[in-house]
Amino acid sequence: MDNKKIIAGNWKMNLDYNESKELIQNIASSEGDFNADAEIVVFPSMPFLSVFHELLKDNNVRLGAQNCYIKNSGAFTGETSPTQLKSLGVTYCLVGHSERREIFAEDYDLLAKKVKALLEVNITPVFCCGEKLQVRESNVYKEFVMRQIEESLFSLSPQDLAKVVIAYEPVWAIGTGKTATAEQAQEIHNLIRNRIAKEFGEKTANSISIIYGGSMNPDNARELLAQKDIDGGLIGGASLDADLFAQISTSYSE
Ligand code: PEP
Repeated sequence: MDNKKIIAGNWKMNLDYNESKELIQNIASSEGDFNADAEIVVFPSMPFLSVFHELLKDNNVRLGAQNCYIKNSGAFTGETSPTQLKSLGVTYCLVGHSERREIFAEDYDLLAKKVKALLEVNITPVFCCGEKLQVRESNVYKEFVMRQIEESLFSLSPQDLAKVVIAYEPVWAIGTGKTATAEQAQEIHNLIRNRIAKEFGEKTANSISIIYGGSMNPDNARELLAQKDIDGGLIGGASLDADLFAQISTSYSE
């Protein structure tokens, strides 16, 4: 497979400016502790992106945004456009994180538009999907996750789909300390890849990066990252500590 390995840190709405700056400086200065074969991406809060772009400019750590709107300009108070993010040096953007689907009622159609708007300005969408506990327990989780992907991503061309990163994040594992087992995660990652292969061909399926998120930490990362269809991690809590974040990134090679 020729897909990229990605270790990404979603800081959510945590840390004030000084705390965030300290964390980004720690990450930047300990770049050597990170896995050089993986793309390291951080998703700090929106207001800090411009300063952090400067701090990361001599560094391989990539800057991501946690959200964007679907238009590039206009009367959309409080929103941030893909072109604005691009002008700040942002190269990745989260789309459809479960918190946005749940708290901000983001639906399939809106998420499809966000993905397209980002691809138009060459920002890589990190498209999040995943089922809640109730859906898992009622045993329709495979159909549920497939539908999230089909509804928001399957109108893309194979070339565009190959540029998207998919993050499988079972909602019951996010911020709960309860991670999916490697087998549970691999099952869904494999299903996603096979479904993409069926619709778009093997080449697209093998070039797309599918990363796992949900209470990943240095203790469980090695087993998760060893799975054939897991191409990296989207890390929340543990990414707020530069050491833990670096340790997760190196869990590939150990
Ligand atoms: C996330 O918010 O995307 C996430 C995976 O969080 P955590 O690692 O804290 O479960």
